[in-house]
Amino acid sequence: MSSNLFIPKTCKHCGNAFTARTTVTKYCGDTCAKRAYKARKRQEKIQATLTEDMQQQKQVVEVHNPNAVNNKDFLSVTEASQLIGVSRWTIQRMIQQGRLKAVPFGRKRIVARWQIENLFN
Ligand SMILES: [Zn+2]
Repeated sequence: MSSNLFIPKTCKHCGNAFTARTTVTKYCGDTCAKRAYKARKRQEKIQATLTEDMQQQKQVVEVHNPNAVNNKDFLSVTEASQLIGVSRWTIQRMIQQGRLKAVPFGRKRIVARWQIENLFN
């Protein structure tokens, strides 16, 4: 490594022409190097926040993903309530009133999806 090198370069931060003493120098001086470093750190921070936001949104989407219920032909009372968007008690009441047919499976009561769809016919 020689210190006698004089390489004409353009500062990657401010765009000014300068003479570099090493081939790896990217900035015209310490000020630009520091500013570029800070800018990069800020950019990384923004990127990290964005990534975090995206992951959180993804989680929210997964939690609210209705496909889990939508793909089933037979639903528990809870799932049936999620499918329609009402409370479990509304479903329970409809079963008690005989408006919705539910078949007991052990301790669970299962509602056929077409039964729910029939309500809308
Ligand atoms: Zn500069």
